[in-house]
Amino acid sequence: MPVKTQAAVLWEYGQDWRIEELELDDPREGEVLVRLAASGMCHSDEHVRVGDLPLEALPAIGGHEGAGIVEKVGDNVTSVKPGDHVVLSFIPACGRCPSCAAGHQNLCDEGAGIGVGLQADGTSRHHVRGHDARLMCMLGTFAPYTVTRESSVIRIDESIPLDKAALVGCGVTTGWGTAVYGARVSAGETVVVMGIGGVGANAVQGARVAGASKIIAVDPSEWNREQAKIFGATHTYASAAEARAALVDLTRGRMADACLITVGVVTGEIIGDAVSLVGKLGRVALTSLGDTTDTRVTLSMFELTAWQKTLVGCLFGNANPRYDVPRLLELYQQGDLLLDELITRTYTLDQVNQGYEDMRAHRNIRGLIRYD
Ligand SMILES: [Zn+2]
Ligand SMILES: [Zn+2]
Repeated sequence: MPVKTQAAVLWEYGQDWRIEELELDDPREGEVLVRLAASGMCHSDEHVRVGDLPLEALPAIGGHEGAGIVEKVGDNVTSVKPGDHVVLSFIPACGRCPSCAAGHQNLCDEGAGIGVGLQADGTSRHHVRGHDARLMCMLGTFAPYTVTRESSVIRIDESIPLDKAALVGCGVTTGWGTAVYGARVSAGETVVVMGIGGVGANAVQGARVAGASKIIAVDPSEWNREQAKIFGATHTYASAAEARAALVDLTRGRMADACLITVGVVTGEIIGDAVSLVGKLGRVALTSLGDTTDTRVTLSMFELTAWQKTLVGCLFGNANPRYDVPRLLELYQQGDLLLDELITRTYTLDQVNQGYEDMRAHRNIRGLIRYD
């Protein structure tokens, strides 16, 4: 029986999300129908909406940060059953492809489909006004129900509140992993985090839990800088230039051990700044996206060589979602990872455009849509 529900749909780049009636087919082989509890509002959906990160085709249902309860499964689904609580992973983790097998689930071969937004057999279960809809990251969490692949769902413990768990499907793990895996932050280090949004706040707490002694948050917004302190920032500055001047004193000229780039839209200039903020053996981890056609970066090649610096790209925090999602949720239950504090405002599905307006105006770190 198809489910009739609603979804936030993008019909044209540059326009707002529109709430439409969604007709959802039953899950087929290898697919799962999930009743969502909540969806985070990540910056990547804004990148899609404005057309910086276009999907293969429109219309598309947004949202890729969700958690909920499995309602129904198709044939040959073995890792979850109806009633199981799951986090939706914005990149699937099949467990069998060469990347997954080598311990790099963030690079799972099935991830090639996230910009296509169809099921594994190349068709859609989501129908809007007679059109087959694509899904952001093959998830489409801007809807109370969705059908997705088994490889995109990760079973979690039932004691974990689903609205908090939703955030671990993208932003939390991405930010955390930028610090812990991308830049390999270790105890006693000095870490700079450039850009304090939903990802940057988690990069700050990743650095904190990894034992960084000084965590320097850089963001032009005073409100975002104040938020950074909640997650563990010890110093805050409005610009890279201010941070550079302060680092000279704070580190007696040695500069930072790591710099994490988690700004909303990255440019070559920001990457050059980040490389200039780290000292000998300094690591720069780049998580932010920018113009996908941009190839220009200016940085000191001499310092890169002479100070043995590293610049590393970072996708989904270079994490293994099947390992890291449950682990991060355990840290939340122990009180080491803050999730409640990330959710600055909650919205209903029909307030989705307001939520993004608030993000652009620095009124939320992470907006959350609730479906209960
Ligand atoms: Zn995201
Ligand atoms: Zn895989």
